Amino acid sequence: MTRIFCIANQKGGVGKTTTTVNLAAGLSQIGQRVLVVDLDPQGNATMGSGIDKRALELSVYDVLLDSASIAEARQRSAKGGYDVLGANRELAGAEVELVELDRRDRRLKRALAAVSGEYDFVLIDCPPSLSLLTVNGLTAAHGVLVPMQCEYFALEGLSDLVNTIKQVHANLNPDLQIIGLLRVMYDPRITLQQQVSEQLKAHFGDKVFDTVIPRNVRLAEAPSYGQPGVVFDPASKGAQAFVEFARELVRRLESLRR
Ligand code: ADP
Ligand code: MG
Repeated sequence: MTRIFCIANQKGGVGKTTTTVNLAAGLSQIGQRVLVVDLDPQGNATMGSGIDKRALELSVYDVLLDSASIAEARQRSAKGGYDVLGANRELAGAEVELVELDRRDRRLKRALAAVSGEYDFVLIDCPPSLSLLTVNGLTAAHGVLVPMQCEYFALEGLSDLVNTIKQVHANLNPDLQIIGLLRVMYDPRITLQQQVSEQLKAHFGDKVFDTVIPRNVRLAEAPSYGQPGVVFDPASKGAQAFVEFARELVRRLESLRR
């Protein structure tokens, strides 16, 4: 069974892309077949997987507009060990062009149906907005993974995302659920982060993953080498945390099935 997950949070810079590429690499290391879909016109997940966004002949843009299939447009991240449906600035135009088309919010879902049997996981890296692109991601997905920094306004920021998820759940995708919240860029020396982390657990209970991703400079350096941190420096604390997170996710999904 293929699991299609969105990595979403409408704030920018919270660690969505870092989570996407490192979870993909971590899952690949434990034997899972993974496709990363880059739904952000910034193309950071594409670049961070070692694929030059400026050189893409076909991208997720062509797939959304139905001029290419995923099988035609995907590429292999040799370092990461997973496939990538890449994105670049062209995707920013899709937002406007899609509005004119029918079934505009189900385009990605339909395209994924043709390849999903080839993967155990599809990870969709969403842009920092609750736009039509994000709605395409949420409509295609079974679940949402929410990376969060344990900052003062973190909980407030979540309510817009939770409302969007509820709307998509009610109108477009009854399968959609929040799989879990992942604490990222965590620094246990900061008392406020400990407090917010406790609040998160009090509020969301089991939905908060046990694994915590620490703030770790190797994770931030890796993209400039076109690699997920998990591959760039496997011994680093950040890399090890993401591999542990991949294991936790697989375990959780197995226990959900029972
Ligand atoms: P988003 O996709 O939500 O905009 P990114 O994943 O691009 O966020 O992360 C924002 C910035 O923070 C990037 O420069 C990234 O390298 C850095 N970063 C992300 N996670 C960590 C971490 N755990 N430790 C240190 N730096 C991180
Ligand atoms: Mg990003």
